Amino acid sequence: MQWKEAARMTEILYEPKDMSWVDKGVLGIEWNDGHKSVYPVRYLRQQCPCAACVDEWSGVRRLQPDDVPVVIMLQDVQPVGRYALQFTWSDGHDTGIYSYGLLRRICQCDVCQPVKPIEPRSRRLL
Ligand SMILES: [Zn+2]
Ligand SMILES: [Zn+2]
Repeated sequence: MQWKEAARMTEILYEPKDMSWVDKGVLGIEWNDGHKSVYPVRYLRQQCPCAACVDEWSGVRRLQPDDVPVVIMLQDVQPVGRYALQFTWSDGHDTGIYSYGLLRRICQCDVCQPVKPIEPRSRRLL
């Protein structure tokens, strides 16, 4: 299974070249291989890989999609070494370190996600 290892190695070589707002609340990252990723920020927050959001031992996600405020803003982005980005969110959460490999896997562009999951419309009575 050597090719799998090789695939993992190349994944690490991805680096963001440019970052911009594609739309209101949609972050765009252009990579060094020319790929243009898009990330709705709420989706990005839901994918937070930190220990508070994902159980470190089982890998089970503790954070439920509904736990993230409907209106969430990205307040700051800091590079972590040469392998990851750390986001600071308007709900005060800032412990998630998103490796470039993770960011590529969760890319929401039309090439990576040809079929978008439809967000169920909430009809819950509060
Ligand atoms: Zn988190
Ligand atoms: Zn993509």
